[in-house]
Amino acid sequence: MTLNIQHIREEFPVLDQEVNGRPLIYMDNAATTQKPKKVLEALSAYYTHDNSNIHRGAHTLADRATRSFEKTRTYCKEFLHSAEEEEIIFTKGTTEGINLVAATYGRKFIGKGDEIIISTLEHHSNIVPWQMLCEETGATLKIIPINDKGELIMEEFDKLLSEKTKMVAVVHASNALGTINPVKEIIDKSHKVGAKVLIDGAQSSAHLDIDVQALDCDFFVMSAHKIYGPTGLGVLYGKREVLEAMPPYQGGGEMIKEVTFEKTTFNEIPFKFEAGTPNIGDVIAFQMALEFVNKLGKTNIRKHEEDLLHHAEHQLKDIKGFIPVGTADQKLSVLSFLIKDMHPFDVGMMLDAAGIAVRTGHHCTQPLMNRFNIEGTVRASFSVYNTKEEVDKLCESVRKIAKLKN
Ligand code: PLP
Repeated sequence: MTLNIQHIREEFPVLDQEVNGRPLIYMDNAATTQKPKKVLEALSAYYTHDNSNIHRGAHTLADRATRSFEKTRTYCKEFLHSAEEEEIIFTKGTTEGINLVAATYGRKFIGKGDEIIISTLEHHSNIVPWQMLCEETGATLKIIPINDKGELIMEEFDKLLSEKTKMVAVVHASNALGTINPVKEIIDKSHKVGAKVLIDGAQSSAHLDIDVQALDCDFFVMSAHKIYGPTGLGVLYGKREVLEAMPPYQGGGEMIKEVTFEKTTFNEIPFKFEAGTPNIGDVIAFQMALEFVNKLGKTNIRKHEEDLLHHAEHQLKDIKGFIPVGTADQKLSVLSFLIKDMHPFDVGMMLDAAGIAVRTGHHCTQPLMNRFNIEGTVRASFSVYNTKEEVDKLCESVRKIAKLKN
């Protein structure tokens, strides 16, 4: 199915504005995506008609809010193809999901002498929680290296795996370079040595079909704001038996069965991991974002985004001074680059002056930037609402900027 991009753009009011006297061209989608009208309306409708606390109220509004909140859990179950709703835990985002696993599964099951494997491609949020755990427990962090294209060197991964490996936590698709990792192979190999696997799906979830049962990962984490949904909301998927074996993350309301001053018994999953009043309005609004993606179909979304990437690459490759960073064979529509003799930040400012929003800097992947001996890159990341005309304007601006020094 060919998508009607103009029609899709009409659903995103934020796109209809000028920035620095030019029509906004939003290409910072790997940082966060814009939100369709239906998400904004659902949020407003919740606070206008249904606002109340969930799960405990005996009144109509609480019942409506609870049912709507739990409906999103069903949507997420279907979105990730998990076996049951109970395996879907609402979090603040990918970062909290990883911290939750490190702090609960990690503290209980990983100890001195054990090893945790991550990769050079990781976002800081899939590095620091494991470093903190290693510091606390005496476990060791091992890193899968990458080649010059920004792809994992799988032979090196094979060498790192051993009976000591207790956790393998890798990004499904790199936010800085777009590289898509062979996660199924990683999961299968890790399971052979008895390790658990966490997949950071912050970037992949908006673009690739996810089936956690087919992948057989133990944990999968994602953020709603990268999938056209609200900020400060995410999902942690975990296999039932693994979640049940883990201690709770935070203590408080909702996560308990019974409290006395002598002893507290904990609630069943998923509530065991959802202490306190959750982000009810945003959870409810997230349904509309998932519906938006489902309606268009990820295959169609990806095809459009890939067309944009190829359209851009075709024009940029001949620009003198244009240096692509990350040229993996399998990648999302993320275009990371440098202009010879120019600082990425300056390039970003010049693009902003032309109304083009990109990201510059280390993209929360400093070790990855160190691997390439650079401080950062300029990153344009495409989404379903970007057009070929916008890509042409990006390329034209890059050409003009590169000419200043090359
Ligand atoms: N992992 C990856 C690959 C990301 O791209 C991001 C966000 O940019 C994160 C983790 C952290 O996501 P959040 O800030 O929504 O928790």
